[in-house]
Amino acid sequence: MAIATYNKKTIRDIDVNGKRILMRVDYNVPRDENGEPTDLTRINGTLPTLHYLLKRGARVVLMSHLGRPKGQRNLKYSLANLTPYLARLLDTDVAFCDDCIGPKAEEMAAALQPGQVLLLENLRFYAEEEANDKEFAGKLAKLGEIYVNDAFGTVHRAHASIAAITEYLPAVSGLLLEKDLVMISKILGAGYRPCVAVMGGAKISDKIGVIKNLLPKVDRLLIGGAMANTFLHALGHNMGASKLSADDVELVHELLAIDIGKKIVLPEDLVVADKFDNEAQKKNVGIDEVPEGWMALDMGEKTIQTYSAIIRSAGAVIWNGPMGVFEMPNFARGTEAVALACAKSQGATIVGGGDSLAALDQVGVNYMITHVSTGGGSTLEYLEGRRLPGVDVLLDAED
Ligand code: AMP
Repeated sequence: MAIATYNKKTIRDIDVNGKRILMRVDYNVPRDENGEPTDLTRINGTLPTLHYLLKRGARVVLMSHLGRPKGQRNLKYSLANLTPYLARLLDTDVAFCDDCIGPKAEEMAAALQPGQVLLLENLRFYAEEEANDKEFAGKLAKLGEIYVNDAFGTVHRAHASIAAITEYLPAVSGLLLEKDLVMISKILGAGYRPCVAVMGGAKISDKIGVIKNLLPKVDRLLIGGAMANTFLHALGHNMGASKLSADDVELVHELLAIDIGKKIVLPEDLVVADKFDNEAQKKNVGIDEVPEGWMALDMGEKTIQTYSAIIRSAGAVIWNGPMGVFEMPNFARGTEAVALACAKSQGATIVGGGDSLAALDQVGVNYMITHVSTGGGSTLEYLEGRRLPGVDVLLDAED
């Protein structure tokens, strides 16, 4: 798969000593009902950049979004809870400002000493963030002298803290963003065959463009999760009460029509349940045997065998999205089997997306994956060959 090489300036290419760095991170971490983070992968991913900067006496102001507060100040989405976790990981105090712009944030940013860190409140408490508002970006820019983007999970979005802000400050990439893009290019650019993409999750319309553009580039595309239900429904199988997107039937036909190489692989059997509950009655059935009122919540045993074998004998694998309702232990088998198959694959593996990372963790195979990516949607858009607005705006490397 031909993929552009990375040619952007990073923090290594500029003098960061003693400078005030305004750094965009992606701390949009999964949380429990009390707002406590349940997985710190995304925070951990930024530690190399933070250590690099702090060791050089930089003063670091961190900004992120969390969830979808839709432009409202909703403390359910406050980043305050993350402060002690970040402080523990960095082994240093981390200050928190309950706003991301304005006099208080400016004062706190100005007071930072070399080696100190300040975390700002959720950027998306302001609608201007997602609107890529220039004025808002200008207010953010007052908090630093150099802008660093280390948020691979968000670079496919042209938001104020990602795009417009680069009109005010010299903009370079952090080490995580660089690593994600370089690793994906290296692995997929190496030409390992067969190249297998595995896609799951619920929403199909979100991923349709990706599938279309990926098809010519991969040898196999394995589909699972509720997305597979939509495909099976479109092919005329009765899916009972399964979650599917009836509105996407036409899109599915479009995809199947262009799949002349028959690269798309769909489940041959399913695990169905009589209700959406971990304790539901369940059974393994063929794709034509879903009982009325029952729903497919996982892929079946035969499908697990087929998918696992394809993944294990692949030259390169890229996986994104759960293969069933893996949050319920009784319906996590398909997703966990894919995680395990990736770990045991003879090929190079890239896994991205919050749910897939959680599954790797569940099975304990994170360290057996060639590249665990912090990106989800951004990885897919990059693979599609689309430009990433948050990367385009960074300064070009000189060579
Ligand atoms: P997405 O945000 O599109 O990646 O979808 C992730 C969600 O899809 C997870 O919360 C899964 O529980 C859900 N999901 C996967 N397979 C199914 C299924 N067969 N039925 C219902 N939900 C599913």
